[in-house]
Order: sequence, then structure tokens, then C-alpha cells
Amino acid sequence: MTTVAFLGLGAIGTPMARHLAAGAWGLRVWNRTTARAAEFARAHDVTHAASPAVAARGADVIITCFPVSGDVESLLDGPDGLLAGLTKGSVLVDCTSGDPATSQRIAARLASHGVAFLDAPVSGGVAGADAGTLTVMVGGDAAVLERVRPVLEVFGKKIVHCGAIGAGDAVKAVNNALLALHLWSTAEGLIALRKAGVAPDVALDVINTSSGRSNASMNLFPERVLTRAFPRTFRLALLDKDVGIAAQVAREQKSPAPLLQLTAELFQAAHRAMGEEADHVEVVKFIEQLTGTEIK
Ligand code: NDP
Repeated sequence: MTTVAFLGLGAIGTPMARHLAAGAWGLRVWNRTTARAAEFARAHDVTHAASPAVAARGADVIITCFPVSGDVESLLDGPDGLLAGLTKGSVLVDCTSGDPATSQRIAARLASHGVAFLDAPVSGGVAGADAGTLTVMVGGDAAVLERVRPVLEVFGKKIVHCGAIGAGDAVKAVNNALLALHLWSTAEGLIALRKAGVAPDVALDVINTSSGRSNASMNLFPERVLTRAFPRTFRLALLDKDVGIAAQVAREQKSPAPLLQLTAELFQAAHRAMGEEADHVEVVKFIEQLTGTEIK
């Protein structure tokens, strides 16, 4: 039996781990806030590991899902760290929406211990994780991906090998930068239209059967902004981080990307103003404050 360890029971990690718990994977879980892992282990009848080292010991596949790659890197060392438990021949799959440079550093350290690494960020949100229909974008050795594919298929519907280590992170960052751009530009457009006397629902009715439509205009604005529901599913802090990574990738590649750089600056400002717990769609409230106009 393949043994899987899952570390990081946050908003997206928890439903991903829930699917693994339902299968025969000998699942063990670890979370920084112990109570969360203990509760999950009790509810799903799986093992609660006392430390990252204990979770990794003897596991074939170790999945991590933290806010940033630096969190994974910081868990490598020390007597309770991952490296103290990882078994030669195992694979660490990092589902964090991470950054390529840190993933490359982690992969090099693991390789010197005989452990393979894949960066494997996911998209589809908490709803996709609940449904087990996430898209998983993978960087690293294609043969290693084939070895762990059955595990990823438990929560992923579409699994794409994007290239060398860091390629999954880079694709995820650019995807989320596009989400950020759509959120910001749709808000600007709807506010300008409202000031011009067009109601937001009327404008969206047109846009959503026209060429300017996006996931933001088709789903996020009707379901979360017009209703003023703003549910908290994906933190603005994390989207700010993702746009920053996309801008960084462009800078590192010396690829001119003025719009990505500007979006990174705007989301940094919104994150600072709205705080750590605000949802990503609450960036719209920040734009509403700047313009003195609500989208409703
Ligand atoms: P959350 O903030 O909900 O959860 C973060 C998890 O990481 C928690 O388990 C938290 O532990 C743990 N953690 C945070 N910092 C550390 C640390 N320094 N050391 C150890 N553990 C730590 O984040 P999400 O689950 O929303 O996101 C996780 C990743 O997935 C991010 O990279 C995000 O960008 C990405 N993602 C999220 C999506 C979403 O819809 N939420 C969609 C797609 C990707 P504790 O319980 O102790 O706080």
C-alpha cells in the first residue's frame, strides 16, 4: 500500500486531504496548529503525526500545502523537520502556490537525500477541492509525476506536466495574476459604468455574453459582489503573493511586463489596506473605497 503524508490543513489542504482519507492510502496528517490535525484525524480515522519528521517517516508520498514555498523550506531542518524523517526513494509533492527559485532550492536539497520533488500547485478553489476536480500543474521529472499520478488523481481532475522544477509554480502565478487583473479591471469598468448611469447587473448581463467576459465577471461578481456576500475562501494576502511571484518571474526572465508589475503594486496596496484575513474578492471593496462608489 502507498503511504501518504499530508501537511498543511488550511482552507484548500483540508478538502484535498479529506479525499485521501476516504481512500486506502495509510494517510497521516500534520498541521502547525495541532488541534486542527487532531480533529481531522479523529473525524476521518487517520493517523495524526506529532511532527513533520514523524509524518514523513516511511511515507512514499509527502504532500505539503502551505501559504508560501518558504514555509516548506523552513520545515526541512531540525530534529522534527522533514529531512529527519524522509525515506530515500520517496517523493515530496508541494501543492503550495510557490515560487520557482525556492522550489529549485528545496528540490536540490532533497535530491542530495535521495528524495524527489515536484512543485504541484492547484487551481479550482475550495469548491474544486471539495468536488475533487482540481487542476494540478506540475514542475519536475515527468517520470516522477507518473509514479505519483494515482495519488494526485484523488483530488485532481486535470493533471498537467508543465516543465522542469518551478514550471508549475510559474504557471500558477501567471494564472492568478490574470485572475487579479480581471477582478481589478472589472471593478473599475463597472464603477465607471455605474457613474455613467448603467446598473452593474445590466452591464454584466451584456459583458457575460460578450468578449470581455471572464471567470470574475461570470461568477465572482454576480455571486459575491452584487450579493455583497464576499465569502472567505481564498485570502487576498495569498493572491497578492501570487501576483508578486508572476511579476518576479517576468523580471527574472527580463520579459517586459508593465501590467503585471502594476497589478503587483495595486494588490500589495489592497492587501495592506484590507488585512490578512480579507478574501481576494474583497479587493473590490478597496477599489470601491478609492472611488467612493459601491457596485450594487
Ligand atoms: P490557509 O491560510 O487557509 O492555510 C494555510 C495552512 O498552512 C494552514 O494549515 C496553516 O497552519 C499552515 N501554515 C501557515 N504558515 C505555516 C508555517 N510557517 N509553517 C507551517 N505551517 C504553516 O491557506 P490556503 O489553504 O488557502 O492556501 C494554501 C496554498 O494553496 C497557498 O499557497 C494558496 O495560494 C494555495 N491555493 C489556495 C486556494 C484557495 O482557494 N484557498 C486555491 C488554490 C491555491 P495553521 O492551521 O497553523 O494556521
